[in-house]
Amino acid sequence: MLDTRLTSEQEQLRKTVQEFAREVVAPVSAHHDETRTFPYDVVRQMGDMGLFGLPFPEEHGGMGGDYFALCLALEELGKVDQSVAITLEAGVSLGAMPVHRFGTDAQKARWLPELCAGRALGAFGLTEAGAGSDAGGTRTTAVLQDGEWVINGTKAFITNSGTDITRLVTVTAVTGTTASGKKEISSLLVPVPTPGFTAEPAYSKVGWHASDTHPLSFDDVRVPEENLLGERGRGYAGFLQILDEGRIAIAALAVGAAQGCVDESVAYARQREAFGRPIGQNQAVAFKIARMEARAHTARTAYYDAAAKMLAGLPFKKEASIAKLVAGEAAMDNARDATQVHGGYGFMNEYVVARHYRDSKILEIGEGTTEVQLMLISRDLGL
Ligand SMILES: Cc1cc2nc3c(=O)[nH]c(=O)nc-3n(C[C@H](O)[C@H](O)[C@H](O)COP(=O)(O)OP(=O)(O)OC[C@H]3O[C@@H](n4cnc5c(N)ncnc54)[C@H](O)[C@@H]3O)c2cc1C
Repeated sequence: MLDTRLTSEQEQLRKTVQEFAREVVAPVSAHHDETRTFPYDVVRQMGDMGLFGLPFPEEHGGMGGDYFALCLALEELGKVDQSVAITLEAGVSLGAMPVHRFGTDAQKARWLPELCAGRALGAFGLTEAGAGSDAGGTRTTAVLQDGEWVINGTKAFITNSGTDITRLVTVTAVTGTTASGKKEISSLLVPVPTPGFTAEPAYSKVGWHASDTHPLSFDDVRVPEENLLGERGRGYAGFLQILDEGRIAIAALAVGAAQGCVDESVAYARQREAFGRPIGQNQAVAFKIARMEARAHTARTAYYDAAAKMLAGLPFKKEASIAKLVAGEAAMDNARDATQVHGGYGFMNEYVVARHYRDSKILEIGEGTTEVQLMLISRDLGL
């Protein structure tokens, strides 16, 4: 029989993060959003709790948990603050995971302990101004000269790449041409700081104001030959593998956002009165919230399923895309409906739902757009 109940350990983790989100994250969320400042103190506390090390082995400073544990934490954080949740998601699933999956023992020993502790952040540099959905179109180059890779180019929209605690950026770069004449793309570890590497001024974004996002430039950046991550020429394939897993994590974050919108709307609809009674007593309002709950529930079921398949070693690519697709849409649709339920107050930044309204759009774009998920699902169907 299928059993989707959480174990007592998982339930304990979920409750601990829920409490942390309510007591530590939520009180400062509006401030960091308004001032567009990175929540260093919150990140330090998440590091102390072990959240950045959740899916990594204890020998490298991790908590010895799994990817699903990370997802549970992201869902709870996503309910109250998407910026904090994406900082954790990108730090773990994009920053540290490539080192864990593809790194040599020396690379793991060097990077994982401080990334797992949350004392340092790693970033994932795939996207370029002209290469997003079509990330294989990368133009950044790396040439091997006298035992060093010399990197030149730019990257766009890179999360966690310019904070005071950013210590590593993993980038894809063209390192040659394959036998069949295609670009040979490899991954390289760039410690921060390294001369020639610049995190340009942060973007002004519609949402995720407290998350750190920069364009990056590489101007004759030299790193030792041993900073090649994984096999030469396998960099793009490796990044795609990381993104398959990352979609489950982003789906979990989006489910958190969708559920946060439900919770806020239920509470508001019970206490806000119009025409002499709580607005939730109007079926038009109650049905809107019921539909929101259905979206959050469906999306949660989808990411649990994708995570279960991944952890069981089964194919999970299609399921991860489905989870990312439905969860991103659930977050966006619920944010729109929750704002409507809150009336004019829902348009005021101090309300969580207003933040979700601005923050959720990117969930249909980042780590593969809705259209890219549809492309992957239809490909799996043989279309
Ligand atoms: C806040 C933020 C944080 C990010 N963090 C990171 C990060 O840490 N690391 C990183 O590498 N990247 C990051 N990204 C980049 C993100 O993954 C890309 O923006 C995303 O993959 C889309 O690429 P694009 O912006 O170039 O859009 P495009 O690829 O130019 O797409 C534009 C539109 O065309 C559609 N489209 C494209 N091709 C097709 C097709 N064949 N069929 C149908 N529709 C198509 C797309 O779905 C989209 O709607 C981040 C982006 C943002 C905004």
